[in-house]
Amino acid sequence: MTLQIQLHSLGFPRIGAQRELKFALEAYWRGEASLATLKAQGARLRRLHWARQAGLDFWPVGDFSFYDHVLDMGLTLGHVPERFAGVALDPLDTAFRVARGRTAPTARGPHGAPLPDAPAAEMTKWFDTNYHCIVPEFHAGTTFELDASRLVEQLVEARQVAAETCPPVEGRPQPRPVILGPVSYLALGKSKDGSDRLALLERLLPVYTRLLQTLADRGVHWVQVDEPILATELGADWKHAFQTAYHQLKACPVKLLLTTYFGPLRDNLHLAVNLPVAGLHLDAVRGREDLQPLLNLWPKHKVLSLGVVDGRNVWKTDLNATLDWLEPVAERLEGALGGQLWLAPSCSLLHVPVDLDTETDLDSEVKPWLAFAQQKLQELQVLGQALREGRAAVAAALQANQAACQARRTSARVHHPVVRDAVHEALGAAVSSTRWGQRQSPHAVRAQVQAQQLQLPLYPTTTIGSFPQTLAIRQARSEHKAGRLSDAAYQALMAAEIERAVREQEALGLDVLVHGEAERNDMVEYFGEQLEGFAISRFGWVQSYGSRCVKPPILFGDIRRPQAMTVAWTRLAQSFTHKPMKGMLTGPVTLLNWSFVRDDQPRADTCLQLALAVRDEVLDLERAGVRIIQIDEAALREGLPLRQADWPAYLRWAVDAFRVAANGVADATQIHTHMCYSEFNDILPAIAELDADVITIETSRSDMELLQAFEHFDYPNQIGPGVYDIHSPRVPTQAQIEQLMRKAAERIPAERLWVNPDCGLKTRQWAEVIPALRHMVAAAQALRQAH
Ligand code: GLN
Ligand code: ZN
Repeated sequence: MTLQIQLHSLGFPRIGAQRELKFALEAYWRGEASLATLKAQGARLRRLHWARQAGLDFWPVGDFSFYDHVLDMGLTLGHVPERFAGVALDPLDTAFRVARGRTAPTARGPHGAPLPDAPAAEMTKWFDTNYHCIVPEFHAGTTFELDASRLVEQLVEARQVAAETCPPVEGRPQPRPVILGPVSYLALGKSKDGSDRLALLERLLPVYTRLLQTLADRGVHWVQVDEPILATELGADWKHAFQTAYHQLKACPVKLLLTTYFGPLRDNLHLAVNLPVAGLHLDAVRGREDLQPLLNLWPKHKVLSLGVVDGRNVWKTDLNATLDWLEPVAERLEGALGGQLWLAPSCSLLHVPVDLDTETDLDSEVKPWLAFAQQKLQELQVLGQALREGRAAVAAALQANQAACQARRTSARVHHPVVRDAVHEALGAAVSSTRWGQRQSPHAVRAQVQAQQLQLPLYPTTTIGSFPQTLAIRQARSEHKAGRLSDAAYQALMAAEIERAVREQEALGLDVLVHGEAERNDMVEYFGEQLEGFAISRFGWVQSYGSRCVKPPILFGDIRRPQAMTVAWTRLAQSFTHKPMKGMLTGPVTLLNWSFVRDDQPRADTCLQLALAVRDEVLDLERAGVRIIQIDEAALREGLPLRQADWPAYLRWAVDAFRVAANGVADATQIHTHMCYSEFNDILPAIAELDADVITIETSRSDMELLQAFEHFDYPNQIGPGVYDIHSPRVPTQAQIEQLMRKAAERIPAERLWVNPDCGLKTRQWAEVIPALRHMVAAAQALRQAH
């Protein structure tokens, strides 16, 4: 019996190769385009995306989303927060209201009345990716009701596209609906009344059953059910929920492909293998360790799907190396009666950019090493053909691939001896205790030296770094990029913006000033552009949430800092004031976590290289007379591994990297760090180990409750708890700020408190920033007087 090899994908990027979906959404939300126009644009993108997947045996259907797939699943399950229910709207407008608290101004409620705003649903990270999904809200009384219309409509659409574009002789791709499984849906949500989410499973399963039945009635054979939660640690109750769910769903007349991704199944392997489903997808890139144990247990009647192409990164797959381990697996399955092996990317391609071919300016040595979504699907085709017909059938493709992989492995830009030596030297047994990671004196001593030097008042005021990125700044940047504005003219404009930011801060009476970051397009890309070892794409956009995209730089090789990156701008800013000017850097962990990172060495090693580059910049700033240096680590928490068991190892090297970057300075130099989130409980020991003199954090929305954790932990260094939410255009009053700071002072001694906003101000207008900061400075003055 020969083995049947089939190719498929778990999902395709939705945003469009040129971010078409982003622009269509934003036009609709501004009221400039109709809902019909937006929907037509969505249909056009789906059609394009299926066409790009023409060579596959199955097409995902329902992976496309106008905002978020978890939210879509909620609508399919008739489950939206109560504050949004009861208004008869187009489901898409309902989705936008849930996600954004509002929809387009043209969307009207019953009798044409404008819709009131309501608090948007929360977002959370989609597992360990930089994609954010909407958090389903549950309470004891939550009910569900099937609305299969989205999936059914897109199924019809996909069949039509298949019929039009794929010749019948070759066998057309089979459209296969994608849904989020019931257990992951519950796990991603939050109970609003303390009730047990799992108790809802009983009510949820009949709706899933009806959905599968509805799809079966429409002629669907296979349904992809995503249960990524299987790659995380599961308690006994959650494991039990899997049993209950899939034993109940097995009665449905469709075959289920249970998909897991983002990591190994480890102790959930037995559970996953034995669930009564027709097929199982395993992430064979991150979860390769599961493969042998899995094959030993494999029930021969099931379809095994292996995710062999990395859906989380942009590197070309080493096809020969993949075949080296894949061929024996195929041979083993071949013995099985009617054995089936499916190949796919490891996870949905949502997390990579669309098409490398659009990159005309990308570093020409690096470009051939890369594969975006489109290229990854081509790799899949080569692998499929090699397994079906032997490697000789695809000899040319394999050879080209080998040449590219070999070039990458041996490139002098990937392996730089000078960097290797520096890393070697810094890599002591324990970085944090060597001169590389250790400040000269403990914080209590440093604090006195710094107080002497800086002469700051009690409750010193500062901001987090960026000031409004005005239209003028953004236009100058794009004109400069397009070559229509000379370097000198661009620099002069940025200098003028920096001067303006400093003058405004002087006038406001802030104590520690910033230059405002006018010259930075993005806090990671700005450094990526200046460091050797990074390449910058033009269209390498990846969805972060809704219409928001990020363009992660591509970290391909050993990191070197050819010259100082921020010293000149900081000096310039300092020249406009006698107040201390903060140097402003992005930390190594954030540079790492917000980039596509090389996969040929451990992330920890790459992070240390970044740390050494940032360290050199810190020391250059110090030499230039900068007395306060802020090193942002906005993404430290984001890098936490999926499984808590893996947290300590990550935190160890992440903290070490920060310490290497920051701690080479003299006692008199004050190190700040900034983290814009409000969950610290579980990582506070690591945060304390960073040993930054001052940490500024987001706290305004949690009403300073967050400081309780710092208090209980006896956090020893100084803290700037954010006093106002920079995400909102609302200007806080002086009284509100004073009240928040008084609450803060109940938990943290006033001598250790700073006064600052939650985060940078780049998305705000000057007209909002000035009154807000005026109130903040006035509040600090009032607090000092009252002290
Ligand atoms: N210094 C950066 C800014 O103010 C920090 C941004 C961030 O933490 N996300 O914009
Ligand atoms: Zn921030």
